[in-house]
Amino acid sequence: MDAQAHRPRIVIIGGGFGGLAAIGELKGTDAAITLIDKRNHHLFQPLLYQVATTSLGPSEIAWPIRQLVHKRPEVTSLMGKVVGIDLAATTVRLESGAEIPFDYLILATGAQHAYFGHDEWEPFAPGLKTLEDATAMRGKLLVAFERAELETDPEARRALLTFVIIGAGPTGVELAGAIIELARLTLKRDFRTIHPEDARVVLIEAGPRVLTNFKPEMSAYAERALRELGVEVELNSAVTAVHADGVNYGGTTLKSETIIWAAGVLASPAAKWLGAEADRAGRVKVNADLSVPGHPKIFALGDTVTATTVGGKPVPGIGDAAKQGGRHAARVIKARLSGDTTDMPFHYRHLGDIATIGRSRALIDFGWLRLTGWVGWWVWGLAHIYFLIGLKNRIFIALNWLWIYLTGYRSARLITQDSPTSASPSVDPATAGTADRRPPDSKVARLRA
Ligand SMILES: Cc1cc2nc3c(=O)[nH]c(=O)nc-3n(C[C@H](O)[C@H](O)[C@H](O)COP(=O)(O)OP(=O)(O)OC[C@H]3O[C@@H](n4cnc5c(N)ncnc54)[C@H](O)[C@@H]3O)c2cc1C
Repeated sequence: MDAQAHRPRIVIIGGGFGGLAAIGELKGTDAAITLIDKRNHHLFQPLLYQVATTSLGPSEIAWPIRQLVHKRPEVTSLMGKVVGIDLAATTVRLESGAEIPFDYLILATGAQHAYFGHDEWEPFAPGLKTLEDATAMRGKLLVAFERAELETDPEARRALLTFVIIGAGPTGVELAGAIIELARLTLKRDFRTIHPEDARVVLIEAGPRVLTNFKPEMSAYAERALRELGVEVELNSAVTAVHADGVNYGGTTLKSETIIWAAGVLASPAAKWLGAEADRAGRVKVNADLSVPGHPKIFALGDTVTATTVGGKPVPGIGDAAKQGGRHAARVIKARLSGDTTDMPFHYRHLGDIATIGRSRALIDFGWLRLTGWVGWWVWGLAHIYFLIGLKNRIFIALNWLWIYLTGYRSARLITQDSPTSASPSVDPATAGTADRRPPDSKVARLRA
C-alpha cells in the first residue's frame, strides 16, 4: 500500500497501446499508479513506416508520456528500463538499481524483432520498431540514392538502387508501396545522374501469399496492386542468408545495400522476469483473465503475451488487442480492489484488418464490410486519424496525406545521421544528367517497360 495515503499501488510497465489503455480505464480509481517506460514517449507504431519513408516526421507519431498523464495527479511517470521483477518482495527492478514496489502489476512491454535464430542478420537487415529504427531507415534509404548519384560502377549503383524487404505482412507491404512511390514519384526529378524511378523494390516472402491475415482474394488484390506500382513480389521464397552484399533466396543472390527486416517478432523478456511459461516467441501464457498463472495480482497483455479468444482463436498481436487487454486488466484490478472475486475472462473482439499500399490504395476487412482501392484508402486514412492523439497532429497528418495524395511530394527527407556517402567521386557535373548512365540491367529494363 501507498504508505502515506494507504492507497493500493498499481505499477504498469510499458506506455504503449496496452499500458495507456489500462491507465485510461483506471481513471477514478483510488490508487497510486506508477507508469514505467524505458522511453519518454508513446509511439503510434502503425505509422512508423511513414517516418521511415519520409511522409511524416517523428514528432507527428509520438507523444511525451508525461504530457499524456499530466492531468492525472495519481499517476507517476518514470522513465527507466525494467530489468527484473522480485516476486517475493513484490518490486520491479530498474536498470538504475531502483526498486519500485507494487500491490498490482500490469506488464505491457510489447515485442521486438526476431531473426529466427539468425541474429547475425540484424546489422544488415534492421527492422522497424522504434523511432530510432525509423529515422535510421529513412537515412539509409535517402543515402542510398545519394551514393548512387556519385557511383560510377554500374553494378555498385544497381546494388544501391535495389531495396529489399523481407516479409510480406502489413509492415513489409506498406514499406514496399511507400518506397517505390518515394523513388517513382517523390525523387524522380531530384537527381541528375541516376533515375530514381528505376530503383528496384523487391518484397520477399517465404509463404505463398502477401498479407496472410487477410482473406486470399484480398491478398491477391494486394499482390496485384504492389506489382502495378512496380514492386517485385517474390513468394514462396525463404531467405537463407543476409550479408553485407545482399540476400540469398531461392538459390540466387540479390545484391542490395538496403535490406529491411519485416518478418518476425519476439516478445519482451516479461516471461523471464516472471519465471512464467512462454510460447516459442517468448510470449507469456496468461490465464483467461490475463493474470499470470500463480500470480493473481500480476497481469500481462498485448504483444508480450499469448492469449486465446473465448472461441479458442489466438488473440492477434495488434494495437487494438493490446488496448482491449489493457482495459480488461484494469477492470479486473478495479473489481478486486472493490472486493469482487468473480471470474472475469477476457473477451477479445476483433474489429477488422486494414493495410495500405502506397498513397492511394488500401485493404479494409471489417468482416461485414470489405473495401479495396481508393475508397479503402480513405477509410484507412480516417481510421488512423481517429486513433491518433491530439487535434494538431490529426489536422497536420490529414493535410499532409492530402498533399501527398495530390502531388506525390513527401517533405520529411532530411538525412540527420552521419551516413557514409563514399562512392567514386568521378561524376562530371558538366555531363551529369545528360547521358544515360543507368546500369544495363534486364530487370531495370523490365521495370521501365
Ligand atoms: C511497424 C509496425 C507497424 C504496425 N502496424 C500496425 C497496424 O497497422 N495496426 C495494428 O493494429 N497494429 C500494428 N502494429 C502492432 C502494434 O503496434 C502492436 O501490436 C502494439 O503496439 C502492441 O501494444 P503493446 O502495448 O503490447 O506494446 P507496445 O505498444 O510495443 O508498447 C510497449 C512499451 O513497453 C516499453 N518497454 C519495453 N520493454 C521495456 C522495459 N524493459 N522497461 C520499460 N519499458 C519497456 C516500450 O518502450 C513501449 O513503450 C504494428 C507494429 C509495428 C512494429
